Amino acid sequence: MKLKEVGEFGLIDLIKHNAIVDPADVVVGIGDDAAVYVPAVGRYELLTTDMLVENVHFDLAKTTAWQLGYKAVAVNLSDIAAMGGQPRHAVVSIGLPPHLEVDDVVELYNGMKEICREFRVNIIGGDTVSSPGGLVINIGVVGAVEPEKLLRRSGARPGDLVVVTGTLGDSACGLDLLFRQGWEEFGFAWPLVSAHLTPRPQMAVGPTLAAFGATSADDISDGLASEAHELARASGVSLRLYADKIPLSAEVVQAAAMLGKKPLDYALFGGEDYQLVFTIGAEDFDRLPNGPVLFTAVGEVLGGQGVLLVDAADASTELEPRGYNHFR
Ligand code: ADP
Ligand code: MG
Repeated sequence: MKLKEVGEFGLIDLIKHNAIVDPADVVVGIGDDAAVYVPAVGRYELLTTDMLVENVHFDLAKTTAWQLGYKAVAVNLSDIAAMGGQPRHAVVSIGLPPHLEVDDVVELYNGMKEICREFRVNIIGGDTVSSPGGLVINIGVVGAVEPEKLLRRSGARPGDLVVVTGTLGDSACGLDLLFRQGWEEFGFAWPLVSAHLTPRPQMAVGPTLAAFGATSADDISDGLASEAHELARASGVSLRLYADKIPLSAEVVQAAAMLGKKPLDYALFGGEDYQLVFTIGAEDFDRLPNGPVLFTAVGEVLGGQGVLLVDAADASTELEPRGYNHFR
């Protein structure tokens, strides 16, 4: 069925179904002029938004609508996790090309609702317009954080360690694989491609970090090199990272060899990992839980400014903040 057969309001009726996960927090959801929710008592509110544009952020030949919906929410939740918070409500604005099928939009929302159900996020509103260009999705998320759990980019102190969660570079490598004929044949490709198409934000980790003593945090959306510069600049410090400590999955090492690429380049400059990078004192680092999430110390905080990368031969070079940059 085509969009014009159901129209804007018919479509909103389809979207409304199962949009609310925690009804106690929502006074008015989809269907009025504005949403109304109960504020989180005693907590700071967090507000973030992220936009995905067809042929800039995604290619509809390479992702399903479901995966795209999942990812569009995931990237917002990752920003909430990086502040130490928990997500609560989302508004979803979509610009739809007229040729899109109603089923595609329903699948887009099914992907959103899946991750929203898992992390208890209510979809409480949005906007629906036609787009003569490509598909555009903008999601705004409201979250909450206890004041003492708030983490900013600006708290890193000389002497802290620089720590990352998970492995880095999988998503960027997965993106390269998606554009290679026959990637489905390689057993190692699936985890990389799914890291790209359906990234899982570190929601369980972010809210615990301040209590463990983390001093600053950021999520890795544009590659470790770029985020390291953000932390260094915001905190007024420099960072020294060690190339051979950066955690790489066995899959990214295998795939990079096949593609003739360096796995470390994916980790440093690739982006869209949606892991967290944070700083923490060495003793506090030792108290971080051993699993299920992998924590790896990849460097340290020093005075001064900038980011240095130390290679396996102990040579240091300035690490450029190269990564995805829209207007470059
Ligand atoms: P108004 O014209 O008053 O701005 P709309 O007709 O645009 O209201 O929207 C009607 C209701 O549907 C509102 O609650 C709005 O938040 C919700 N809504 C519209 N589009 C979407 C969407 N794409 N996803 C979720 N909710 C939506
Ligand atoms: Mg109105």
